[in-house]
Amino acid sequence: MSRVYNFSAGPSALPESVLKKAQSELLDYNGLGISVMEMSHRSQAFTDIIEGAEALVRELYKVPDNYKVIFASGGASTHFAAIPLNFMNGSRKADYIISGRWANMAFKEAQKYGDAVAVASSEDKMYSYIPETTRESFRPDADYVYYCMNNTIYGTKFPYIPDTGDIPHIADISSCFLSEPLDISKFAVVYGGAQKNVAPAGLVIIIAREDMLGNARPETPTMLNYQIQADAKSLYNTPPCFIIYMCKLVLEWIKNDIGGLEAMKERNIEKASIIYDYLDSSKLFKGTVEKKDRSLMNIPFVTGDKELDAKFIAEASKAGFINLKGHKTVGGMRASVYNAMPIEGAQALVDFMKKFEAENA
Ligand SMILES: *Cc1c(COP(=O)(O)O)cnc(C)c1O
Repeated sequence: MSRVYNFSAGPSALPESVLKKAQSELLDYNGLGISVMEMSHRSQAFTDIIEGAEALVRELYKVPDNYKVIFASGGASTHFAAIPLNFMNGSRKADYIISGRWANMAFKEAQKYGDAVAVASSEDKMYSYIPETTRESFRPDADYVYYCMNNTIYGTKFPYIPDTGDIPHIADISSCFLSEPLDISKFAVVYGGAQKNVAPAGLVIIIAREDMLGNARPETPTMLNYQIQADAKSLYNTPPCFIIYMCKLVLEWIKNDIGGLEAMKERNIEKASIIYDYLDSSKLFKGTVEKKDRSLMNIPFVTGDKELDAKFIAEASKAGFINLKGHKTVGGMRASVYNAMPIEGAQALVDFMKKFEAENA
């Protein structure tokens, strides 16, 4: 067996120790003689798994007691619609900051349900920076302000938490989930798909302040009603049980093997710095985003020559560095270095890039 370094933007690498643990428990979970895949979602064993996963999310993020943690399905994209259905419920106005494609898709979805406005955008420069906002950017009677914290495709991250005054904040944190500490109390709701940092695909985690719940619009599908999901402890129907189990293993890995989110952040900074420092000194490769807005998770770069980009991607892939192709809308390369990517993976990639640079100078 040989594992490669997987720089996929999602679904992405999982910690090897987590995969091994899942493998060791695959046929016989905890002496029950069945797999987690085969057990009832109402069983005691699964109740322990989902409650354990929730407790770990709460512990790692220091989630205040007046927030609900919901495990849902449908991918983050389904929740682009669930958010206006649950929260565009007063003035039916919502203000969106457009920092990339995922924010824009959420915005387009919200426009179907009410008066959604793009209050700031960085589309003019291919989303290579984070637009500035002030409290005055937002309509005082907006039901919420929405933004995407880490822009997976373009490799930017909000270097600040927008000041929205009293307007509830809602953030898509799919691609920076549990990558560093986050003050949840500054948000009304954060949510994200799990397949970037915390689990295989198929799970969405929503952390919502209780006072935000209970006012979903009447047409909200039952399955997308966060109050109903919270009341049912995420067991209104059959949840993605095995994915929640995998999520719990990853959360345990963050807590026990890494040492929590402060340590996770340090490790992620060290990893990203290895790549950014090289990009800043290279004569062949360059980063594509404004330095102050750089993501710790997704690092896009180019040579400036499409053929050379393609040659690099092909040779890297042969050498065991896979999924380095940039998103189809931007081209070039992108190294996604989520939580599970070891520091050695970032170092090995840079060593390979240096060799490629020397050979192609
Ligand atoms: C991947 C991603 C999404 C979409 O997730 P799906 O689960 O595929 O719907 C949304 N937002 C961000 C920031 C992402 O990285």
